[in-house]
Amino acid sequence: MQELIDKAEGLLLHTYNRYPVVFDHGDGVYLYDTDGKKYLDFVAGISVFALGYNNKEFNDALKTQIDKIIHTSNYYYNVPAINAAEKLLRVSEMDRVFFSNSGAEAVEGAIKAARKYAFLKDGKTDHEIIAMEHSFHGRTMGALSVTGNPKYREAFEPGIGNIKFAKMNDLDSVKALVNDKTCAVIFETVQGEGGIYPATEEFIKGVRKLCDEKDILLILDEIQCGMGRTGYMFAWQKYGVKPDIMTVAKALGCGVPIGAFLLTEKVAKASLAAGDHGSTYGGNPLVCAAADKVLELFEQNHIIENVREVGAYLYDKLEKTAAENSGILAHRGVGLIQGLEFKEPVAPIINAALKHGLVLINAGSNIIRFVPPLVIGKPEVDEMINILLECLEETQVR
Ligand SMILES: *Cc1c(COP(=O)(O)O)cnc(C)c1O
Repeated sequence: MQELIDKAEGLLLHTYNRYPVVFDHGDGVYLYDTDGKKYLDFVAGISVFALGYNNKEFNDALKTQIDKIIHTSNYYYNVPAINAAEKLLRVSEMDRVFFSNSGAEAVEGAIKAARKYAFLKDGKTDHEIIAMEHSFHGRTMGALSVTGNPKYREAFEPGIGNIKFAKMNDLDSVKALVNDKTCAVIFETVQGEGGIYPATEEFIKGVRKLCDEKDILLILDEIQCGMGRTGYMFAWQKYGVKPDIMTVAKALGCGVPIGAFLLTEKVAKASLAAGDHGSTYGGNPLVCAAADKVLELFEQNHIIENVREVGAYLYDKLEKTAAENSGILAHRGVGLIQGLEFKEPVAPIINAALKHGLVLINAGSNIIRFVPPLVIGKPEVDEMINILLECLEETQVR
């Protein structure tokens, strides 16, 4: 394995500080490295592989589609895109969808739709978007511009401009930034990279009301917290409010690169029109066959029910861990998107866990985030907790 790692370091642009492991294959909620060592996976490729690895039905659907047709062009219709769109709109309560290749691209599309919507209203080109501090929306220039982490943005300024940052869960901080130019407010229903901060009910409802009063569009980024992870298909569905535009990706294709932004009819009919947006690959037959199958399997395998049950179990276990360990400052999250915030950087704990056959990931330097495949069971939660406690002991986090 070390040979492969050394080779990779000579070839790949070093934009990631990678953990020293080369994964070879997976089965259910377990991964295997090229040396054959087995790992319990509490990362799921960062909130992606919801169905568990080597899911036969999913794999077969992809193979069948490969043998039929992989790509045509968005200048033609294709059956998998129609099927995936129909299912996605049904579970999301939205009206229109555009398929992209990634999360960042879904955010790009959402920003363009919001700007065009405002442009069609007043013909101006100086509209502002309010985003949140500590948010993460992706690495392309538009998505980066609404990402509330100055460290990610600084070297790449200027961004797209006219972006202001408010504080998540502080309605007054949003109100203070609203003016006649504001065209959209964007936030993650549960902040992921920023440290697992769920939007409070008061905040999400307050922003919705504010947006309604001023015809500002509410964009909810559900790329990480959506697709069942919170115990709802989309996290906002818990609150009975609805975004005007929503972004999805990560678990949508379960590893096959597909994202989407979804719009209500109100926005769809008064924003992006023919010629305004496009993508060569976006929504091609292969990736849509994946999304279609994922959505089918979510229902068939009662994924949401499992998230609620196992998520609650994980919550209790992490609460207990946090209570018994003074090195842990806080426990946050819901369903199968939870985090433990430590006093110290968590890299030593994550490295120790890898040695013990457990894959964990951070969210910021001091937070471990728990985003396992959504098919995980209670015994695997127990297994994870046991290894985690061992690692805390070993790294002297008490
Ligand atoms: C991962 C993520 C993105 C970016 O998605 P990519 O597919 O990496 O471009 C955007 N928003 C949120 C909330 C994410 O977690």
